[in-house]
Order: sequence, then C-alpha cells, then structure tokens
Amino acid sequence: MSRFTKVLIVAAVFALLFAGIVYAEGSDDAEPEAEEPASQEQVEQTAKPRSDERTYLWIGLAYGSGAVDKITLKSPDGFIIVKGNNKGWKETEYTTDSKTLTITASGGQAVMTDENGNTILSSLGGGGYVAMSAAEDPEDRLITINGSKYRDGATATVTGGKLNVINVVELEHYVRGVVANEMGYSYPLEALKAQAIAARSYGYKSINKHKNYGIDLCTTQDCQVYRGYVSEHDTTDEACKQTEGQVLLYDGKIVETYYYAYSGGATLNSEDVWSAALGYCRGRVDEYYSDYKWAVHYTMQELTDELVSRGKNIGDVTSVQVTRRHSTGAVAEVTFVGTKGTAKYTKSSILSVLGLKSFMFAMNDSQFVWSKDGQAVVTDASVSVLGANSTGDDLSTVYVIGADGDVVKSSASDIRITNGTMTSMPQGKVSAGWTDDPVRSSVVYIAGSGWGHGVGMPQTSARNMAQLGFNCEQILKYYYQGTEIGYLADFQ
Ligand SMILES: [Zn+2]
Repeated sequence: MSRFTKVLIVAAVFALLFAGIVYAEGSDDAEPEAEEPASQEQVEQTAKPRSDERTYLWIGLAYGSGAVDKITLKSPDGFIIVKGNNKGWKETEYTTDSKTLTITASGGQAVMTDENGNTILSSLGGGGYVAMSAAEDPEDRLITINGSKYRDGATATVTGGKLNVINVVELEHYVRGVVANEMGYSYPLEALKAQAIAARSYGYKSINKHKNYGIDLCTTQDCQVYRGYVSEHDTTDEACKQTEGQVLLYDGKIVETYYYAYSGGATLNSEDVWSAALGYCRGRVDEYYSDYKWAVHYTMQELTDELVSRGKNIGDVTSVQVTRRHSTGAVAEVTFVGTKGTAKYTKSSILSVLGLKSFMFAMNDSQFVWSKDGQAVVTDASVSVLGANSTGDDLSTVYVIGADGDVVKSSASDIRITNGTMTSMPQGKVSAGWTDDPVRSSVVYIAGSGWGHGVGMPQTSARNMAQLGFNCEQILKYYYQGTEIGYLADFQ
C-alpha cells in the first residue's frame, strides 16, 4: 500500500467522523449514518511504516582530527534504522530492539552492531542510514551518543580509519540545542525569540556547509554553538516554541543571520568585513549597545615578526596608524610603515593581524582610558596617592582590598581608579577627539570596545532592546535591515 493511499484512508476516516458530528448537531431526530470510527488496529496500521518529512541537519559532534575509534549509542526506546536526508527520512526494513548500538570503523566503512554483537549494518553513514530513537512521539526521541544526551538520531562516516560522529537532528530540536549556548537563557523572551529565529535561519542556510566531512554544521562558533539536549532550558524552549518554523527573509529568500556578542557602538557592512555585500547587513551606529572594553599592546618587534609570519616583509616596522575609518567610527584601514616598505590591512584581516576583538578601537603610544564624553585619555602607569598633609607618593605595587576582605596584590599599571566618569563610550564616537596619528614609539597601545565581527545582530544589544520593550521582529529589523519574518514551510 502506498503512503498516499494510507493518507487517503486516514483523511476519509476523519471526513466521515467530521460529517457524523455535524450531522448529529444539525439534526435532533435523524439517525446519523456515519460509519463507526476506525478501530485501534486500523489506525496503527495506517501509521506504519513511519516517516518524517521535516527538515533534518547532520551535525558533526567529532570529526576530522577529532574523529574517534568507537561510538556507543543508547536509547531507552530502542532504535529504528531509517534512511534519510535533509528533507526527512523513511523507516527501512532494518529494525532492532537493542537499546545499545556500537559503531566501529572497518574497511573504510562505519559498521553498526547490536548489544549481542550482531552486525546490523556494514555501511552506516555511507549508505545514508541513521539510527533513530524508536520513540513514537518525536518529542520523546532521546538518545545518548558516547554518554552525551541528544535528540533524534545518530550516524557516522569514516575518514582515515576513524569515525566522524554525527547527530542527525530535526531543525527545531537543533535550534533548542543552540539558543541557550548563544545567548544567556535568562535574557528577555523577545531577545531569545530573535536569537531562535536567527539560529533557525542560519541552521537552514548552512545545509552542506561542511559537506567535505559529510556534515552540515559543526558545533562551534564557526557555525553555531550546539550541545544538544543538555542546553535546553524552559526560557529558551519557550522562545523556540513561540517562533516555531519562523525564519528571516530578505528579498523573498532565507538569509544567513550573522550575529556576535558586542558591537562596540556600531555594526559594519558585510563587505567591509568579508567580501559579499549583503543588502540586509548594513553598517549602522548601534543605539542600544553595551560596552565591552578591551586593550592590548605590542612592541614594534612583535609587529615586525607578525608581518613576517604573514609573508609581508617590509623590514622593521617603524610606525602603525589607523589610516581610514567608516562614518560610524569603525576602523576601515590600518597601515604599517617599515624600513623597506608599507603594508595596509583592511576588512577582517585588521582583526587577525593585530589580534583584536572588534573594529571599534584607537591606537596610542601610551596607555589610555575612555572618558564619559568619548575622549581617549592618556594615563601613565603609576598611581599617585595624596596624603592629608598634601605630600604625594608614587606607587608601583598596589594592594586592593575587596568588599569580602580578600587582599589582592596588583601592579599599578593594571589598576584603573574611577569616580564613575570613565566607564562608557558614546555610540559610534570611538574616534571623538582622537587624531589617529601614526604611533612610532617602541610599544603601541590599542584599546577598544566590542567583541565580534560586527556584521548583523549584536546579542547584547538585542537583550538591551528587549529590556526597553522592543519585540523580536523590531530587534531583527533593526540589525538586519529590510528583512521580514517568514515561514520555513513555504520553502520546503
Ligand atoms: Zn562550522
């Protein structure tokens, strides 16, 4: 019997039931002529063999250099062996009551055996097979993969005699395993909803991203941080539930929703960080950002060594300078001058060559701090203490006593004494009062705000908007301009 025949039978049974109800309500005296409801056996029969046509992702839990020798799968409900792809799966003739399955590599194939040592499949991942929890309700499909709990199923492929460990997980379940890792589960609901829609859109758009390993996504920040069932919380689950099936659209297409932690006061055009100009990733001053300050310093010798390691031999570096900024204040170009030439860096290479957290920064030949009006104030590295008799002492070593009575020894250069006026940098004003002069001293000090690539939604800003009463759609539209919320179902 074909699947469609069964669907028709189920539909017919429901139609008859419905007709019976309407008939009974609409007429007091006539006998309803509806047939008896289908028996329990008939309903079960029409439900088999099972299939699931929702979107599934192949998530690489351990692969490449992290590949393993053995995988142990456990399911309290046993397993069904299904054959599937990103558009879903069908149950095959392979079934097992075994609650534990073992996968090993043999002859370049992933071989799966049951708890009695019988081989169930000799080519698991290569054949497109997945060991899926046999639980009837999709929400009850829980398995452990080498001791960690995940939803849905698992498979493996073999590279170089080792097993790539893969969790095959339904998209909504994947999103539930991402949101709490990418955004604190105590964040406001509308921020979590924005994160859920972003994670779902990014997950769907990343099908085949790591195709060379036989997976769609990895579990790290390279894609999205995913840890499976242990990441689920009531708050993040609620955000996923309220946005179920929702994705972000631009120009009628699902978008890659880039996001990161802190903007530092401005976002960037996608092409000013990478190469593609995405219409929905336009740089803007971020009115809702939270500060995240950082500072680094390098000797000229260290900068020389870094450039040499990158194949840029301009001799000894003698100066470094911010030579161009975007209108928002984000740094667009950094120029190194050496004894044999110059080297210019733009886009994401600015962050990598200088080891920086964000594009919102300034350079100086001394340490400096940010004042409340956006000025970068140069300080020296000593602390002067003025006594009651007006005589001063310069300190190099400082003891700090915390509120809990603990005493911490510190060096004066690591101490910032504040009266509360040097903590925040106004939006997009990183360069206010700053001249971006070339730095020629032996040490270059770099201080900035923000953490991340700067394209798309800063998660802490999303939190701040939610706290101010904006909803998830308003948050998404602020950071992904010209987008709208749509439904994944329209694309399947
Ligand atoms: Zn990845």
